[in-house]
Amino acid sequence: MAGHSVVILGGGIIGLSCAFEAVQGGARVTVVEPGAIGGQASGAAAGMLAPYTENAEQPDTFFRLCLDSLKRYPEWVERIEAVSGLSAELVSSGSLSVAMHEADVLPLQTRMAWQHRFGADAELVEAGRLHKMEPALSSRAVAAIYSPHESHVYAPKLVEALEAACRKLGVQFVAHAGDITVHNTDNGIRIRIGSGEHIDGDKLVVCAGAWACYYAELLGFPIPIHPIRGQICAFDGTLPDVKHMVFSSQAYWVGKRNGSLVCGASEDVAGYDNSVTERGINRLLRWGPGLFPFLEGKQPYLRWAGLRPATLDGYPLIGTVPGQPNIIIAAGHYRNGILLSPATSAIVGDLLAERRIASDLLMAFAPDRFALASARGAR
Ligand SMILES: Cc1cc2nc3c(=O)[nH]c(=O)nc-3n(C[C@H](O)[C@H](O)[C@H](O)COP(=O)(O)OP(=O)(O)OC[C@H]3O[C@@H](n4cnc5c(N)ncnc54)[C@H](O)[C@@H]3O)c2cc1C
Repeated sequence: MAGHSVVILGGGIIGLSCAFEAVQGGARVTVVEPGAIGGQASGAAAGMLAPYTENAEQPDTFFRLCLDSLKRYPEWVERIEAVSGLSAELVSSGSLSVAMHEADVLPLQTRMAWQHRFGADAELVEAGRLHKMEPALSSRAVAAIYSPHESHVYAPKLVEALEAACRKLGVQFVAHAGDITVHNTDNGIRIRIGSGEHIDGDKLVVCAGAWACYYAELLGFPIPIHPIRGQICAFDGTLPDVKHMVFSSQAYWVGKRNGSLVCGASEDVAGYDNSVTERGINRLLRWGPGLFPFLEGKQPYLRWAGLRPATLDGYPLIGTVPGQPNIIIAAGHYRNGILLSPATSAIVGDLLAERRIASDLLMAFAPDRFALASARGAR
């Protein structure tokens, strides 16, 4: 990719990670963002890096991509922090998936059994030890799966650090660009922005999150990415220390370095409306005291929401667009875009440099897989 000019559409975590990778590969890189950098899902995320907890079903290619990404995280964050001089607040907290009833323990054990084969190192923690590990938990918790390698970052700080690192390495940013249109030209790609100005590039990477579906016409096939709203809140004040990420079947809680406790996240379909509703937050507040009695009657000091980019099968679209070798898409990371940013940007870096990609990755995340499936169905 050295010497190429790469335009990246979308200034969320995926666009920034791809920019960081591309500029280090020697490309001239411009990130074009209609709004504020990190102003959508990436700035709203809880920042959990939890491949074991998030993948309860099976060891498929997606699970392995999540694992690969978790393994890359410490070194990746170190690089970003070294270049930017800013901290992403990576915390190796481990996680506890808590069972409140004996009947909830079996599914957790089943998950643990298959994940052990993939280095989960998880263990079942009985009540006595659990309450020593996480003293603020309700005495009604009967057991938990402890996953020692799951971690978290402070997502808005990671975004800020990535942007700063990219700027230091020479990435150009065109934020608040307004309406964006893309044109294929004889020499590559021309992006026209709201002001009427244009940006030219040899290669284009579409990282537009929940808005990637707007590029279906350009790509030449449907992109079934749709927004799933997530509402989330945070408590502050004098709170007991919550050392691990704590998951119940209904919500999660993450203690951040600044002393706040983040609680997320609801899921609903509200189109592109990313406002916070009483109903969404109250749902989270209802579950809190059951796990953490100190949350009884406590109101969050912050409430916010973001739009997760969801696909029909829950997997992202990562790949070169068939028939258009100068266009790559990396979008649709749904609940795991923060976790998946190092692995995604590594794949995009390989695609830009035209290096070989493992065939299972190419197939599982093929951008046109839904179009191909519906064509097969029609035959
Ligand atoms: C409440 C909540 C909690 C979450 N918690 C976690 C978590 O703990 N761990 C985790 O891994 N993930 C989490 N996620 C998911 C994660 O936030 C997303 O998967 C990730 O941010 C997606 O990154 P992105 O860059 O693709 O999307 P975004 O951050 O949404 O960025 C896409 C960008 O594209 C821009 N754009 C819009 N229209 C266009 C256009 N026409 N052309 C170009 N660009 C455009 C947008 O303005 C936006 O800035 C959470 C999400 C939510 C909402």
